[in-house]
Amino acid sequence: MPTDHEKMLTEIFSVSTELYKSMSDDISDTDHSRVFENLTALGRTLSNSDRTIFWKWDKRSHTLWTASAVGEDKILIPDNTGIVGKALAEKRVIISNDPYSDPDFNAEVDKRTGYVTKSMLVMPVSDINGEFIGAYQAINKLGSDSGFNKEDCRRLSLAAVICCIALESETFLDESHRDKLTQLRNRMGFYSDFCKKYQSLTGSGTPLSLFICDIDFFKRINDTYGHNAGDEVLRHTASLLTECCREDDGIYRWGGEEFVMIMPNADLSTCIDKAEEVRRKMMDTVCHAEGHDINLTLSFGVTEFDASMTIESNISAADKKLYAAKEGGRNRVIG
Ligand code: GH3
Ligand code: MG
Ligand code: MG
Repeated sequence: MPTDHEKMLTEIFSVSTELYKSMSDDISDTDHSRVFENLTALGRTLSNSDRTIFWKWDKRSHTLWTASAVGEDKILIPDNTGIVGKALAEKRVIISNDPYSDPDFNAEVDKRTGYVTKSMLVMPVSDINGEFIGAYQAINKLGSDSGFNKEDCRRLSLAAVICCIALESETFLDESHRDKLTQLRNRMGFYSDFCKKYQSLTGSGTPLSLFICDIDFFKRINDTYGHNAGDEVLRHTASLLTECCREDDGIYRWGGEEFVMIMPNADLSTCIDKAEEVRRKMMDTVCHAEGHDINLTLSFGVTEFDASMTIESNISAADKKLYAAKEGGRNRVIG
């Protein structure tokens, strides 16, 4: 008969094998959900609990979210609620073995799902600089009526540490692919998305097109109204592009005042129409920045992907057309 320890080790190695597999596979999802699912399973095994949830803390939107809760797609909660919120606010591990009489316990999820929480262990997780970035939550200790104890904290810390490193590298990757000013993905994000989402379309018979656009006389805006107004104009342009794009389209800040929109399932003429829509919208709206009303125009170069050329050559084809649009007098679309 294997001892409890041997059984636990066997379970740990099953989880770590799955984890290894999901990390070695070509992971095409952006939130690495399979990796976090396996790390969550590791915590469940280590703490011998019925469920574990790893909460990621989005400090910008003051929310905690998870995609790894069993039976639910994605749960999002304000970061100042519940025992998880309390553990993060107080930066300490909380064990609650009678949650329904705990004033901080939020019974909302139980009410919705019919699940009954009997015991809970919440362990805040920090990055290697000591900044808290999420929390591990184990629910309903199995095989013991007295609930979670200090030994469970010790064991759960292993999964928490690995989760912290995984989350930190995911966050770094996301940040390096994102432009802070406009919150759009940047050029690195474009190449990463292109490999994951769009490349397979080229040569498949499904058209793929993109346009590159550039704000006309942008330097003048900086010179006349100041750099902050210039920044506001960039944000204005980013949100106008975002409003115009379809669900599967991607918008990127390509560089200074240049943006790219990539459109799957769009041929050249559909992409030209979209560029025209954006061009007109930009002309018809006024950007309010630093107390000024600023009129703006954009120039566009549009191309449909040629599968026989590299991604760089395709972009360069769009860039040449953008140059022609500038040469031709700006505020126009060349496809
Ligand atoms: P054209 O119509 O030919 O495109 O002329 P332009 O003035 O728009 O183009 P140019 O390339 O001469 O100027 C781009 C300017 O964009 C220069 C640079 O200082 C400014 N810029 C680049 N990034 C930022 C940014 O993040 N914020 C602000 N405010 N300005 C930026
Ligand atoms: Mg410009
Ligand atoms: Mg430019």
